Amino acid sequence: MNCPNCKNPVLDNSNECEWCGSVLTSANKVYSLILSDAGRQKLGLVKLIKDLVGVNLKEARRIVDSKNSIVFTTEDFSNAEIIKNKLENCGASIVIK
Ligand SMILES: [Zn+2]
Repeated sequence: MNCPNCKNPVLDNSNECEWCGSVLTSANKVYSLILSDAGRQKLGLVKLIKDLVGVNLKEARRIVDSKNSIVFTTEDFSNAEIIKNKLENCGASIVIK
């Protein structure tokens, strides 16, 4: 991620920008759920993504068919993990970044 103040790159887990010293709160961190593998239940996954993320069917299908597409972004890590678990129960492989 980048520092919201000086825009320099900072480590994801750092609490303070090493460039300008501004405090980086967890609110600055956005977690992205990346679909690394759609698995075998593609149709079920498309429906699940549509319901979970609130995109239309066409967009959900595009996410499932694209490689390493971002399914969902959130600032709430526990929410990211909940969505990840639901998608993985449907056979998908998810990476949180
Ligand atoms: Zn900075």
